[in-house]
Amino acid sequence: MKITFLGAAHQVTGSRTLVEWKPERFFLVDCGMEQGENEYSMAELPVPASMIEYVFLTHAHIDHSGMLPVLYKEGFRGKIYATPETGNLCSIMLADSAHIQETDAASETKKNLRTGKGEVQPLYTVEDAENTMTLFLPCEYGKLMMIDEGLSVRFFDAGHLLGSSFIEFFLEENGIARKLICSGDVGNLNQPIINNPQSLKDTDYLLIESTYGTRNHDSANDPIPVLLDILSSTFKRGGTVLIPSFAVGRTQELLYFFREIKQKHLLPDFQDFPVYVDSPLANEATAVFLQCSPACLDAETLEIMNEGFNPIWFDGLYTTVSSDESKALNSNTQSKVIIASGGMCEGGRIRHHLKHNLWNEKNTVMFAGYQAAGTLGRIIYDGAKSVKIFGEEIDVRAEIRLLHGISGHADQNGLLSWLSSAKNRPKYVFINHGDEESCTGFASLLHEKGFHAAAPASGSVFDLSEGEWIRLTEPILRKKASADTKPVVAKKKQTQVYDELINTLRSLNSYAESLKHASNADLRKLTEDIRKLIH
Ligand SMILES: [Zn+2]
Repeated sequence: MKITFLGAAHQVTGSRTLVEWKPERFFLVDCGMEQGENEYSMAELPVPASMIEYVFLTHAHIDHSGMLPVLYKEGFRGKIYATPETGNLCSIMLADSAHIQETDAASETKKNLRTGKGEVQPLYTVEDAENTMTLFLPCEYGKLMMIDEGLSVRFFDAGHLLGSSFIEFFLEENGIARKLICSGDVGNLNQPIINNPQSLKDTDYLLIESTYGTRNHDSANDPIPVLLDILSSTFKRGGTVLIPSFAVGRTQELLYFFREIKQKHLLPDFQDFPVYVDSPLANEATAVFLQCSPACLDAETLEIMNEGFNPIWFDGLYTTVSSDESKALNSNTQSKVIIASGGMCEGGRIRHHLKHNLWNEKNTVMFAGYQAAGTLGRIIYDGAKSVKIFGEEIDVRAEIRLLHGISGHADQNGLLSWLSSAKNRPKYVFINHGDEESCTGFASLLHEKGFHAAAPASGSVFDLSEGEWIRLTEPILRKKASADTKPVVAKKKQTQVYDELINTLRSLNSYAESLKHASNADLRKLTEDIRKLIH
């Protein structure tokens, strides 16, 4: 039985892992879309999509689920196992993603026609997304399911997003049994609305994310005081707080905080401030949250509901939907909060609001989520003085703030404590879903702590029966820049020589990993040689 690392290898998006649990029998864990500017290329699926029998989906975020309709288009007709909440969220998120693909393709086609080029086909259509949804089967947390010969699974609450899971796989081939757990995204402790991650179970192999593998969140993790400061300082200037927000999860958390601020009268001078959620997808997701199983909700949220309050609804909440209503928000000069779709400002209505608000120093842009390298959000957050939006150069004069303490991901301490929540250590830890620094840094940390761990590059294959690498590939650098999001202040580029050094170090790491059975004398000699190099 083998595991092949495909997506989210040395990067944060495009989660996809292939398992061959018996000869020529395959399942995928997640089938996500790459987002933002990716440093590395992802290896192709090494088998036809029609040979994949199952997909086990950890959660609905597009970087874990967004390529399912492509898999369907390419011939996958197996079953997709996920919690009911993940299924409900995917139903709206995949349709939304398909709609974006269709719109982008139509606009590219329009441009092409003017220059005599051909029609552009969307990556997938709304129909493909709808067909994909017919393959979903619901799974309950904690229930062992026999899927096939030599393949049983159990989903546990990963505490990252409504319905999110880490998945335990019981694999058996020729009398050899192995356990594998895939973490999906590990949730942060004390996130509003949802539960904390359940404890890790004992396992032979663990595939763990490393978004924050080398960093810890701000220790003061109560976001309400920061939010109050941002709101009151902006409203005193007569400005608007613009929040680029992920439609699913983060938006509902923000609504939870705004409900609390209003319910407890924490901003008495501006008690009636309006909040506009300018994202049809976010509003549909809010409806999914409102209908979820109570098993997904934490004790505090259940208590608020028992007191007769809606945890994510309040007076002054407006859910604008039409694009005309969205545009009208920018001619309304009243101080307000606009939560708009496009968490990393790469698409969605936020770009339109940024164009109208970024130049004005009265306003604040509040980032409330991770900004991947290369995205417009990251460029603004990193301090660009001006940015290009819809081909127009816009000065960045608004205040740029970050709402701390609301990450959906466990930080380094959180990952370590989740790892140690199992009674026994996994025999081997594979690390994915982190940028270069995070995944390799987290691997080094685990080595220091005595774990066997590696952050494999895309295309690497490990034999789960024998416990050894079959193939360790090198990451393949891919450099590209989007013309629309290029900062006017050019960022310093790494030199080729530096890239070469980093690649060589990576090869050294892979080489060291392959020396598991080498003699102690050889290992000692190599260690001394490396130490000499460092000092
Ligand atoms: Zn996620």
